[in-house]
Amino acid sequence: MTSDSGNSDSGKAGNARPRIEVLGAGPAGIAVAHALAKTGKADVEVLERAATIGGNSASFQIDGIWCDYGSHRFHPVAAPKVLADVKEIMGDDLLLRPRHGRIRLGGRWIHFPLKPLDALLKLPKKFGFSLLADSILGKFRPKHAGPRTFSTVLLDGLGPTISENFYFPYVKKLWGLDPDKLAVKLAERRISGTSVSKILLKMARMLPGLKGKTTGKFYYPRQGFGQISAKMAEAAQANGARFSLETDIVRIERDANRVTAVVLREYGRELRRETTQVLSTIPLTALVRLMDPPPPPEVLEAARNIRFRGMILLYLVLECDQFTEYDAHYYPELSIPISRMSEPKNYNAATTPKGLTVLCAELPADPGDKWWDMSDDELGDHFCKWLGQVGLPVNVPVRRCETRRLAHAYPVYDLDYEPNFKTIDDWFLGLDGLVVFGRQGLFAHDNTHHAFAMAYGAADCLDEAGRFDRAKWTRYREEFSHHTVED
Ligand SMILES: Cc1cc2nc3c(=O)[nH]c(=O)nc-3n(C[C@H](O)[C@H](O)[C@H](O)COP(=O)(O)OP(=O)(O)OC[C@H]3O[C@@H](n4cnc5c(N)ncnc54)[C@H](O)[C@@H]3O)c2cc1C
Repeated sequence: MTSDSGNSDSGKAGNARPRIEVLGAGPAGIAVAHALAKTGKADVEVLERAATIGGNSASFQIDGIWCDYGSHRFHPVAAPKVLADVKEIMGDDLLLRPRHGRIRLGGRWIHFPLKPLDALLKLPKKFGFSLLADSILGKFRPKHAGPRTFSTVLLDGLGPTISENFYFPYVKKLWGLDPDKLAVKLAERRISGTSVSKILLKMARMLPGLKGKTTGKFYYPRQGFGQISAKMAEAAQANGARFSLETDIVRIERDANRVTAVVLREYGRELRRETTQVLSTIPLTALVRLMDPPPPPEVLEAARNIRFRGMILLYLVLECDQFTEYDAHYYPELSIPISRMSEPKNYNAATTPKGLTVLCAELPADPGDKWWDMSDDELGDHFCKWLGQVGLPVNVPVRRCETRRLAHAYPVYDLDYEPNFKTIDDWFLGLDGLVVFGRQGLFAHDNTHHAFAMAYGAADCLDEAGRFDRAKWTRYREEFSHHTVED
């Protein structure tokens, strides 16, 4: 498709290839570099603050075991083009694995994703009957009047049993906010089954005979989830894209409404990169602060009022081959503060190293709260205690506990976020030479395949002269707004 000339950012004059600076080397930044380098449309440089690529989707080894930043799966529902690309890049290193997790409901362990027979046999009878009653009486339940929140939408759609026993404590743990302080958007993004019948339908699809080829399965690389980003970055580099790691962006210069240059610091020196387009995937709040001259006061104020939820990942190294057969355990209850625990070796079916496994717990937290500054040993002791509380006592030698901290794990969809996000987003949309996307850029609670889809969309909007087709981008943005998170 060609650019709508009246509605496009103008590119670089002359025959030279447009120069594109990509901010952030997470999946979104890597994928846009890959897509642009593949077509040879542009001269691409990716600027990343960290020492490694992959962002929140990276992997690393602990004592020879590939670990992720919490449970990461590549979901088969990815857009066909994204999935085909990932399969091509990964080759034999991409495994199709059965999901085999457990969730604690009413003090019992139930298979997750839910399976009809398992749920029927294991759910406490009282819970099962209340769920059934919610489903039958749902039509007659009076709907909430007044402002809609995450809480009212769930109570109206799902009824009290599943809302109060599962979703409400779970979101309170993840976001640190009560469900009536969270926006409806969270339900739209996160909950694909907003009525009991939709949940039952989803469960029915797990029945033999009704199952599709990938139902109840996920894709996972041999060397951790981050191998997807690593291989995609390799492909981008092979086609000429450059990655500058440990690079501090000092400011992004603009001349009125046109972004003109990125100034960065490398080895203590300031370097100025004149650019045709900046494609930013870094947190939108950070991007606002980098703009020079700064945005108007209302944009700065909106950026101060929007926030991300952080997360501490606890990696407990245990001296045994395998702790449980399950890939992940989900803990909605508030009695323990971790939301999920995964056993990385069970994701890629690793049989080595022998006599060693790692458990990874996801502890939602914010910089400055009581967990954030705790030592690894203290957090390790808590982790063991929490496991004991849910009937999984650690009876094998613990080698140690390591931790990692993510400052930007989840966008917080509180009741005020929408107007604040819109103020920032509208201002960025009004600038030429700057395009913002990715999970952190669009404040989008979504998956890696969505970040890839956004990146491919952005690359598709750029032509050989570096012009950005804004009309097309508007259509892509409308598509992105329907992304729903897979767990
Ligand atoms: C606990 C958890 C579990 C998840 N599970 C799944 C899952 O199972 N499946 C799935 O598909 N997705 C999952 N996700 C989501 C997935 O991690 C994200 O969708 C994906 O990483 C988003 O990619 P991104 O490039 O948009 O952002 P990020 O991965 O956050 O990358 C942004 C990059 O920008 C860099 N950056 C930030 N500030 C600057 C700066 N000032 N200058 C330069 N660089 C900067 C960062 O270092 C980072 O590399 C999970 C996320 C979390 C937190």
